[in-house]
Amino acid sequence: MPGLRSRHTMGPGLDFVDLPSLSTAVHNCRRCPLGHSRTQAVPGVGPANARIMIVGEAPGQNEDLQGEPFVGAAGKLLDQLLRGIGLSRGDVFITNILKCRPPGNRDPQPAEAEACSPYLQQQLRLIKPEVVLVLGRHALARLLPGYESISRLHGKVVSKDGVTYIPVYHPAAALYNSFLMGPLEQDFKAVRAHLDRAEERRQALAVAATPVPKPEEQLTLFG
Ligand code: URA
Repeated sequence: MPGLRSRHTMGPGLDFVDLPSLSTAVHNCRRCPLGHSRTQAVPGVGPANARIMIVGEAPGQNEDLQGEPFVGAAGKLLDQLLRGIGLSRGDVFITNILKCRPPGNRDPQPAEAEACSPYLQQQLRLIKPEVVLVLGRHALARLLPGYESISRLHGKVVSKDGVTYIPVYHPAAALYNSFLMGPLEQDFKAVRAHLDRAEERRQALAVAATPVPKPEEQLTLFG
């Protein structure tokens, strides 16, 4: 694709030291033509130590204007789904496969997703989330290539290269096709169940790692 690589090309092995430096690079990025047509780049928002990372498709018109992911109708539904499982936006890191808006909200092109992929890989490396929610088929194709379709894989836990993913239907898809709303809510319940299981395992490990006092220490403790 013409214009895909430019003087801003990220060299192999280039590591960002933190999310703010990655964000600055995204704002200056011209690795693909979307870097010239966007209003604002949308690197992602959320705490650097988030347990949950959410990966959508690409910024739409609202996101392009505001520089934040999921601020439109799909974002409102996402907030509602998060609230439904006891989470809020502040608990999660939200980003997209593409950091810039494709004109007219068309689908991301493979070359664009490829050019943008190092940013997502670096975000995964820096945040090290406990689980990545993969929103919809485009994010699924990028993060879990060669896996089953979203209609088969949604709500299931997938481990790959040390990262745990749960693909879910895209909230925008459920806004267009109301029959997907129930399955999407179930997907979020699967996320809650996964987080609860992880918490139970963490607590069991903490208990197992706590040294049991020897009998003479117990006597000292109690009398
Ligand atoms: N807004 C985003 O930021 N990403 C999407 O995938 C949809 C809406």
